[in-house]
Amino acid sequence: MKTVLSLGAGVQSSTLLLLACRGELPKPDHVVFSDTQFEPPEVYAHLEWLKDEAAKAGITIDTVTVGSIKRDAIDFARRRGRGDVSRYASIPFYVANNDGTQGMMPRQCTKEYKLEAIDKYHRRTVLGLKPGQRAPKEPAVRVLIGISDDERHRAKPPGWWASEQEEIGENLFGGAMVRKRKVWKPVHWQVRAYPLLNVEMWPDQSVTDWDVIGGIWTRADCVKWLEKNFPGRKVPKSACICCPYRSDAEWIHMRETDPETFAEAVSFDHEIREAYRDGQARRGFLAGVPYTHRTMVPLEVVEFDPNRTKRKGCGALWDEEPDGMCGL
Ligand code: SF4
Repeated sequence: MKTVLSLGAGVQSSTLLLLACRGELPKPDHVVFSDTQFEPPEVYAHLEWLKDEAAKAGITIDTVTVGSIKRDAIDFARRRGRGDVSRYASIPFYVANNDGTQGMMPRQCTKEYKLEAIDKYHRRTVLGLKPGQRAPKEPAVRVLIGISDDERHRAKPPGWWASEQEEIGENLFGGAMVRKRKVWKPVHWQVRAYPLLNVEMWPDQSVTDWDVIGGIWTRADCVKWLEKNFPGRKVPKSACICCPYRSDAEWIHMRETDPETFAEAVSFDHEIREAYRDGQARRGFLAGVPYTHRTMVPLEVVEFDPNRTKRKGCGALWDEEPDGMCGL
């Protein structure tokens, strides 16, 4: 079985890579980073440092990308409805609806910009499959994911729940009575390994022990290990500059430590509203106004609360992102 480390370049996945470099975790056959082309410069600088450290241990980090999430998100907002957008670049913006209600846009960005690129990498580079060729029916790729104990709920087996309709009889009018049910769709060729949780999860949803680093680690344990082994090195939070999942504490950190990147986020926050306005106006209706921050005011006038370290309002959405791709 080939082992592939999914590198998000945040604290947890960086810890896994560096543990492997030190021989404290079995060396992965491949390491892959999926680039949305809109991460803060500190993430790219950290990635370059990781590449150097990995190279010393004979490990190569491969970068895959499907394009720029920034450019595509704006293009998607302007052109949506014309049917000529190639990628569904939907970021989970907060939306002020015209009827006074508030909502959130569907999140497709992790799937489109990270998971699909990684999936293609697994199939083509790791398994050597040609386009259209079937993947093996048995586990052939062990995917190492940096989820720590404090985010344990994000660890999921390889597969997804699909919604299916089942006919269960006739209704009063002679039509079919159907009920919806969730059906597990396994990814047969994958095993997901969570070294910080000491477990592996299998396509049939079974869970087995995989104690390779001696104990269960929290994010704080990772930070402590990094400080001890790489004194002075700060590992940034890995997420797109425009990500609405950032907590207030993370926005404040960006504004204070990297004003240029914060200015880029402010500019994008305006651009995306203009793009949605143009797209909606062309289609003859205004559906709602998107914002990057949950208070639904332009980013530069948000009164961030330094005590708000949690990403309020999006916990359930992060739960759906089990691949250790965003924020880890
Ligand atoms: S970091 Fe945020 S914006 Fe970027 S892909 Fe993940 S959820 Fe989407």
